[in-house]
Amino acid sequence: MSETTIFEKIIAREIPANIIYEDDLCICFKDIAPTAPIHLLLVPKKRIVRIGEASPDDQVTLGHLMLMAQEIARREGFHENGFRIVINNGPDGGEAVPHLHLHLLAGKKLSWPHC
Ligand code: AMP
Repeated sequence: MSETTIFEKIIAREIPANIIYEDDLCICFKDIAPTAPIHLLLVPKKRIVRIGEASPDDQVTLGHLMLMAQEIARREGFHENGFRIVINNGPDGGEAVPHLHLHLLAGKKLSWPHC
């Protein structure tokens, strides 16, 4: 596994972030360079490098992330209007940070397809 990522530093409070939710398994904070009116990152505290390298041991964490995406959407007030969950995987997928993260995008009618 490569060196410590920026997300592990946020989890460890070594660098600041605008954290809006945290529990034993995950943390959610605002993306520093938002691409939608609401752009949150939902990150497992366990370093899963990317979804393409998750293992069956990660099943509980992965399920938790999906359910917390729904819960955060409710708490932050964008559940009703809708939202998008994006996971970038690997070079062609646009992954910049090798620590699994869900982008939660909302706050306007998002365009599709996204390519
Ligand atoms: P990805 O391209 O899917 O790996 O997404 C990485 C995301 O992390 C990008 O949307 C960045 O804007 C975001 N990001 C990078 N550094 C920070 C930071 N310090 N705080 C919040 N978001 C960050």
